[in-house]
Amino acid sequence: MTTVLLMGPPGAGKGTHAGHLAGHLGVPVISTGDLFRSNVARGTELGRTAQRYLDAGEYVPDEVTNDMVRDRLAQDDARSGWVLDGYPRTLEQAAVLDEILRGQGRALDAALVLLVDSEVLVDRLLRRAEIEHRSDDTEEVIRRRFEVYHTQTAPLLNLYAGRGIHYEVDASADIDTVRGRVWQVAVELKPAA
Ligand code: AMP
Repeated sequence: MTTVLLMGPPGAGKGTHAGHLAGHLGVPVISTGDLFRSNVARGTELGRTAQRYLDAGEYVPDEVTNDMVRDRLAQDDARSGWVLDGYPRTLEQAAVLDEILRGQGRALDAALVLLVDSEVLVDRLLRRAEIEHRSDDTEEVIRRRFEVYHTQTAPLLNLYAGRGIHYEVDASADIDTVRGRVWQVAVELKPAA
């Protein structure tokens, strides 16, 4: 049972490395961004609520996000553990995650933070915008997403550092190099068979 958070600013490679890490640990990736985008694509009520926040680069309100995560973490495949990509992003969400874990008699193993220089990130995101056509990858929205990350999410890093479960990975290199660095952290986390 391994519970890991993949954190870092927009464009740092959370989705990519969450996938690799989860594969290595044999647990599912739970990405709140993907859950929201899938709801938007399917036209669900949750998707209709979330869309305007995603398009503006703002966070979806905590109560909406927390309810969605509570449901997802209660599903069977989450019993063996998970890698959470993009959650929690506010102190309120972190408190709710603690409460969910407490209710399950579990604790968080690690918060892995991908660190990348912000100039490199803007470039990456603009390139991704050309390939993926995400509605929140315009330059203005990208800038807003950084601001929101720095004001709302960066304080969480101190929270997890204070608990001694915060691992920093320099993620400015190419994907394979970063994957190797993330792997090193995973090796420390993976319980011996
Ligand atoms: P991501 O794919 O993780 O970059 O998330 C894309 C967008 O989904 C964000 O800019 C937010 O609008 C929304 N989102 C994802 N995760 C959260 C979260 N934990 N809290 C609030 N909004 C979120």
